Amino acid sequence: MEVRLNTKTSVQTDAAPEKSQAQTRLTPMMAQYVEIKTANPDSLLFYRMGDFYELFFEDAEEASRALGITLTKRGKHQGNDIPMCGVPVHAADDYLQKLIRLGYRVSVCEQTEDPAEAKKRGHKSVVRRDVVRLVTAGTLTEDNLLDAGKANFLSALARVKGAGEDGYAIAWIDISTGDFRITGSSRDRLFADIARIDPKELILSESVFYEDDLHPQFEDLALAVSPQPTVMFDSASAEKRLRDYFQIQSLDAYGTFTKAELAAASAALAYVEKTQIGQRPALTPPKRQSAERSLFIDPATRTNLELVRTLSGETSGSLYSAINRTVTGPGARLLGERLMSPLTDPDAINRRLEQVSVFVQQEALADEVRKTLRGSSDVARALGRLALERGGPRDLAAIRDGLDHAMGIKALLLANDIALLSIETEIAGLGQAPIDLFDDLSRTLAEDLPLLSRDGGFVASGVNAELDEMRALRDESRKVIAGLQAEYAELTGVKSLKIRHNNVLGYFVEVTSANSEALTSSEGRETFIHRQTMANAMRFTTNALADLESRIANAAGRALQIELADFERLRSIVVEQGAALKEVAGALARVDVAISLSVLATEQGYVRPIVDDSLAFTVAAGRHPVVEQMLRKQAQDPFVANDCDLSPESGSGGKAGLLRLLTGPNMGGKSTFLRQNALIAILAQMGSFVPAGSAHVGVVDRLFSRVGAADDLARGRSTFMVEMVETAAILNQAGERSLVILDEIGRGTATFDGLSIAWAAIEHLHEINKCRTLFATHYHELTALSDQLDRMSNVTMRVREWEGEVIFMHEVVLGAADRSYGIQVARLAGLPGAVIERARHVLEQLEETERSKPAAMMIDDLPLFSVAPQAEPKKLAENPAVEMLRTAEPDEMTPRDALEFVYALRKAVSETKN
Ligand code: ATP
Repeated sequence: MEVRLNTKTSVQTDAAPEKSQAQTRLTPMMAQYVEIKTANPDSLLFYRMGDFYELFFEDAEEASRALGITLTKRGKHQGNDIPMCGVPVHAADDYLQKLIRLGYRVSVCEQTEDPAEAKKRGHKSVVRRDVVRLVTAGTLTEDNLLDAGKANFLSALARVKGAGEDGYAIAWIDISTGDFRITGSSRDRLFADIARIDPKELILSESVFYEDDLHPQFEDLALAVSPQPTVMFDSASAEKRLRDYFQIQSLDAYGTFTKAELAAASAALAYVEKTQIGQRPALTPPKRQSAERSLFIDPATRTNLELVRTLSGETSGSLYSAINRTVTGPGARLLGERLMSPLTDPDAINRRLEQVSVFVQQEALADEVRKTLRGSSDVARALGRLALERGGPRDLAAIRDGLDHAMGIKALLLANDIALLSIETEIAGLGQAPIDLFDDLSRTLAEDLPLLSRDGGFVASGVNAELDEMRALRDESRKVIAGLQAEYAELTGVKSLKIRHNNVLGYFVEVTSANSEALTSSEGRETFIHRQTMANAMRFTTNALADLESRIANAAGRALQIELADFERLRSIVVEQGAALKEVAGALARVDVAISLSVLATEQGYVRPIVDDSLAFTVAAGRHPVVEQMLRKQAQDPFVANDCDLSPESGSGGKAGLLRLLTGPNMGGKSTFLRQNALIAILAQMGSFVPAGSAHVGVVDRLFSRVGAADDLARGRSTFMVEMVETAAILNQAGERSLVILDEIGRGTATFDGLSIAWAAIEHLHEINKCRTLFATHYHELTALSDQLDRMSNVTMRVREWEGEVIFMHEVVLGAADRSYGIQVARLAGLPGAVIERARHVLEQLEETERSKPAAMMIDDLPLFSVAPQAEPKKLAENPAVEMLRTAEPDEMTPRDALEFVYALRKAVSETKN
């Protein structure tokens, strides 16, 4: 195999004769580097050398460019300089973070033996090194590499051949907290599921990754996508891997999983093992999360509605940032997950709403609990680091504090009211706090804690008698040194005599050269033994000093040994109690979310929605959660609340919701109104109160919105094409439980094309999809359709005209807009006066022509969508070829009959096609 090491050089690493030739020019250390690099080809290699991680060859060039650090060189290879750059170990996390953000993976290679050991093997021996971890976007654990308020999911996508469109599954793991979940998926909801999970990294088999119609979409995902060898997704060995990992005999206790689900879960585990190299994160057993339990929101809708980030990619300005009042990282993560994945089961939704209600009603209690929560630590992530042996004393303290807060909050809640019983299951985890562990941690840990256990000093005094003794000895010895220095100064008469320490000599006595005579005289030599002569100073040791030195070293070494043993003991108890600790962490996060939503509701005047399994969607005085807060912040006119009723009419048998066609001027508030209703549905189904006077939401199973438009030039799709692709998805997928929000269909093409498409889309939605629909348009001609479609009605944004100016009232009222006011809005925007005048003139002319054949007349000429001739292919059952096949008797046929049957079949098929 040949490894590319830089643009100009390559090194043979197999047994080819060139190898020895090439490698003879490499130092033993560089040869070791090359060997390790060859084994870890798809990542940058951080090669540990003392206090630095060094990178060489192409890695050095790439990293220096990416990190903006100096590129230097170290030695030569085949006559060329070897490029090198390095990052200090103590600052490595910052650099890692930057590289991971830029999409790199990093192999961290450490020294795996003491340099002294290597020396024993011979002067030129190289210290053993090995890769201890592969750092990737989806497998981070360090606090400073992670966002406290966001989950960090690694997801694995698997497909089982032969299972058709439904043979997909996704497993996702957050190794920083141990969360492990699985969902089945299908071809049509694959990307919606990925968007819902919102992973930082996706692994999938090479065969799925390179599939023609999926590949461009994988390439487009704004996350690290890492194709892996297909064998990693083998479903045959999947169950065994899972059983082995969780050390159980059968997976039955965790539920039943499909082959694809097992393959996805096992691939995710395999990747965790591959990146963590020998370390086992404390994962929860995989939990199946059925996709049907969550509201389907396709990726375009999710993006358009700016749920967790705005179109420009920022958190600020998103729905998440408008509603987030959590005070802990785990709470913020849970809120984000709920927002990404609202529920469809009314009972589950109502249980969440009940929790919010309890805290809305008990504001003082909520306030008190929140104060305690505010200081609460991230138990799940601390546990995650400890399980991976990456944790330190501060992680132990985080567990201690988390337990303390959990017990405090539980006592507060239980002391307060019977109403809390309704949320008992949610907080039950608080009761699982392992008290013995808490006591042990409280007793053992000191007040000020170092980051790393190897720095020592984290075990409190009074815990371990031997440790106290060693520390006393060590501290006392230091005092003795100070005494010894004074004694020697007195003895020699050299006032400036000092006792110093360095790593080479250990403790030594130092005097300036001018004062050295007192120590080198025959009397002096009885005490002082010469060690070193410097330019201006001389250094000595004494028997007393050497003796003291070994006592200090022994005491400090022994003290650290005792502390490390204590650390390991506590660490293993924590890992053992992992499941209970996760329950505690989960309960704390749920309490934080419930209280945060109650705070939001009170502060913003939100109400509890009625959520049931009807097809209702009735919102009175609804507001847009983000725009409302923005207007308030900018001290502008308050947001104008609007009603929206899409519920089936009482006479209609409750079968299908209404379609409202919204017309109105530009800037009138149409988009805002459309979005606010979609957001109200999402908020209600995630279990939040909603910005309205009252709201009744019959659960929505699929939410579609086509609002705003953007070019997708990278994929070669124009604005109009994007719009049509999104519209197609809606018309093909929406059902009667769906909520559809459509804004300005058909605007990007010629007027009649656009109008026709919008027209046909409305008819399809009304007659075929039968979903609850809000449809905003500038084509006033469409309002005439309300005469034909019984569940469609027109609403409009009210405007007033005053002295030629248009005033937007932002009020939705029944009826249709009489015109667009586009020219008035253009004037407001500052178009030159001459252009405005000319536009007015052209408009008058156009309207004159239009009056001769108003679209309203067309409506009577056109049959409705459902009765219009449709170019649909014949249904399978009506196809004569199918009928022939069904009635054929193959056992009765001679070979000749069979051949003739095939001819007849072909004829039937070709006739049907025509
Ligand atoms: P266009 O057709 O040009 O896209 P539009 O009718 O969709 O316009 P919006 O973008 O929804 O209009 O709203 C325009 C502005 O009006 C918003 O930026 C918002 O600040 C304000 N606005 C919208 N609705 C309301 C409301 N109900 N109360 C107060 N202000 C509102």
